[in-house]
Amino acid sequence: MRQYQIDPEKPVKLKKLDADAVGDWEGKKKAAQKQFKKLQKELADLQEILYAEQKRKVLIVLQAMDTGGKDGTIRSLLEKVNPQGVRIANFKVPSEMELAHDYLWRVHAAIPAKGEMVIFNRSQYEDVLVVRVHELVTKEVWKKRFDQINAFEKMLAEEGTTILKFYLHISKDEQKQRFLERLADPKKQWKFNPADLEERKLWDAYMDAYQDVLNKTSTAWAPWYAIPANHNWYRNLCVASIIVETLGSLQLKYPSPLQNSNQYIDFLNHEE
Ligand code: AMP
Ligand code: MG
Repeated sequence: MRQYQIDPEKPVKLKKLDADAVGDWEGKKKAAQKQFKKLQKELADLQEILYAEQKRKVLIVLQAMDTGGKDGTIRSLLEKVNPQGVRIANFKVPSEMELAHDYLWRVHAAIPAKGEMVIFNRSQYEDVLVVRVHELVTKEVWKKRFDQINAFEKMLAEEGTTILKFYLHISKDEQKQRFLERLADPKKQWKFNPADLEERKLWDAYMDAYQDVLNKTSTAWAPWYAIPANHNWYRNLCVASIIVETLGSLQLKYPSPLQNSNQYIDFLNHEE
């Protein structure tokens, strides 16, 4: 799965990234789903230790075009996880209060504390994506943000945060299919916003902006992964594998066992 990690030395061209790819799992959807179930359980176990240990912080950033699968990824990833110690932070159009501050203000307030795992549904990257595409600030302003974000994430990493960033890559055609599905299903229509179609018209500008994000802000301390996301089952498998592998490498540990547990057991067994 590491093949999807963006190496800043070898910049990606998003046009060449196949959103339909399924790696070595061609024709093996059932097996992939089985493997994903195993990973869900492993993730739940790792998160339990992360929470018990109260030392490290884990930040997972999700970015994608509309219908790209951010919500679905979050739902599947966390299916077996204990909701204690996990938090989702959604970044919408900034409020007046948020706009009165620098763009990282609301982001900093939402980062994980010790023992926490936080998933960002959209993130600081909106400030170099939608903000750039819609020219909400000048080029001079957004250009500086790549370095600012890298420095911000470096500080978080040095302070004990493990950061993983996922861009879920769907094709423009897949987006059309997903919008049509949403519109055809009364239970899904609430997710559709007519403004999404205006965004769709700007697809190419968004791809340019995403490409810059991936190539300029994938760092050793906060790597980007560009995940083929036309197939939900493969997307889930990739994201879960990368998270489980990364958390596994942290060597998380339950706090040391109590030295005097016998004393407490004795107390409880002899209480009046
Ligand atoms: P959704 O995630 O579909 O509920 O939509 C949230 C909307 O908020 C998206 O259209 C984002 O592009 C937009 N958004 C998020 N962050 C910002 C930002 N910093 N500036 C402007 N729009 C934003
Ligand atoms: Mg939306």
